[in-house]
Amino acid sequence: MIKKISKSKKPIKAEKKSKGFKIDYSPSLEGTSIVTIKPRNELFIGGKFVAPKSNKYFDTVNPATGEKISELALANKDDVDSAVKAARHAYNGEWGKMSGKDRGRLLFRVARILQERAREFAVLETLDGGKPIKESRDVDVPLAAQHFFYHAGWADKLDYLAPNKKVSPVGVCGQIIPWNFPLLMAAWKLAPALACGNTVVLKPAETTSLTALLLADVFNEAGFPAGVVNIITGAGETGAALVNHPDVNKIAFTGSTDVGKLIAKSIAHSNKKLSLELGGKSANIIFADAAIDQAIEGVVNGIYFNQGHVCCAGSRLLVEESIVDEVVKKLQRRLDMIRVGNPLDKNTDLGAINSLEQLNKIKELVDLGKKEGGDFYQSSSPLPKKGYYFAPCMFSNVTSAHTLNRIEIFGPVLTIQTFRTPDEAITKANDSRYGLAAGIWSEKGSKNLKIAGALKAGVVWVNTYNKFDAASPFGGFAESGWGREGGRHGLFSYLKID
Ligand code: NAP
Ligand code: MG
Repeated sequence: MIKKISKSKKPIKAEKKSKGFKIDYSPSLEGTSIVTIKPRNELFIGGKFVAPKSNKYFDTVNPATGEKISELALANKDDVDSAVKAARHAYNGEWGKMSGKDRGRLLFRVARILQERAREFAVLETLDGGKPIKESRDVDVPLAAQHFFYHAGWADKLDYLAPNKKVSPVGVCGQIIPWNFPLLMAAWKLAPALACGNTVVLKPAETTSLTALLLADVFNEAGFPAGVVNIITGAGETGAALVNHPDVNKIAFTGSTDVGKLIAKSIAHSNKKLSLELGGKSANIIFADAAIDQAIEGVVNGIYFNQGHVCCAGSRLLVEESIVDEVVKKLQRRLDMIRVGNPLDKNTDLGAINSLEQLNKIKELVDLGKKEGGDFYQSSSPLPKKGYYFAPCMFSNVTSAHTLNRIEIFGPVLTIQTFRTPDEAITKANDSRYGLAAGIWSEKGSKNLKIAGALKAGVVWVNTYNKFDAASPFGGFAESGWGREGGRHGLFSYLKID
């Protein structure tokens, strides 16, 4: 059933509320019976689930309801040590002797099992993290499988990366990932490390560890030797213990710039390899000659996808001055059509904010933004009574100095500025401590190429946004990180080349 709701509210100056235009659908909830969530989850070390030496557990909640769904083991320093020992043992044993062809065969199996169990992974990802089922089903799980397929193909071809040189794995890798793409980030980390012949200790984020633990099951099902992949849950201190463990040869970290800097400092004295995928404040640039409606869809996908919990979110919109009124009007209308609600509903566009802590951070920053000025507009979409939700919003008419233009929010909040010339657009886009991604919207090919070359961003999308491929390297400039993940470039940080 499709019905139109039209309930107008008087707009207030500088802080406009939406007019409530919305296309509503009957609920279409994804069933959850495919997933079995254990009341308590242990650590995955040496191919088995084992109780933590700390004997401590903490809760993981479903952000869509705020209710506890399970308990996770809290790994302490001794647990980290056991996991690293298991990884070293596997590296010195069967795995270290295995041919690239056989490693590839095992990785192909992981990819296929992920496809077979896709629905289970998608539902669990949504339950634990709050993202809409249509995203976990159509984006996270297929891309995670693609990463394993892609890297499986490299496992027996590594010698071609550096002809006439000796190519070997680095050893035991410590990998730490955030909560925004729990399964996909695990795949981004594990697939290249394993293809290159390393063993791994992976630490998922505190609020979203369940799909990583389910992945442990997949590695066992695929027939990986014990200890090749170890998964330890816990807090920031667990991650720090892994970073500082003397027998880890490489750290791969995805998360905030502040923690990335801490990690870089704490291992600066060692010869550990390090790759960092950090924050972003990416610019999406619309020129007057762009296909405006297509650009609006791209901007919406760029910032409101996954509740704005995307490192490369197009959170700063730059619009050519002559079309700004049209763009703002169309964006406001589009904002009102975004359906916020139960992430398990197949019609939901914007699900739950990952945690209460993150929700409070977004609210605080939006309040600060309102104090600093600009024209605020927020969708009046009704929010569920329980759980952690935030309606998508935008600030237009803001300057580059506005705090919301400078810091990463990691929520569904867009800022809009104008420019008059391509040079001004480039200067404004590059005016950031970050440099992860950017988008350009113009029908003129030569302009797109010229501007793409001038932007200091690791990824530049043209007339599209948020498109990912395992064969394409991803990474940032400046405070957005060091190194690349994905593609042939991503393999180098998991190899020694002599
Ligand atoms: P975070 O606080 O930096 O946490 C990331 C991971 O590091 C979590 O597993 C966390 O554990 C762990 N951690 C926390 N303190 C640590 C320490 N001192 N030593 C070692 N590990 C530690 O980031 P987040 O808030 O989870 O994630 C959001 C950030 O990730 C954003 O800034 C986003 O831009 C960035 N991100 C970047 C990319 C990229 O590819 N560039 C991709 C996704 C996300 P706990 O969960 O237990 O705190
Ligand atoms: Mg959770």
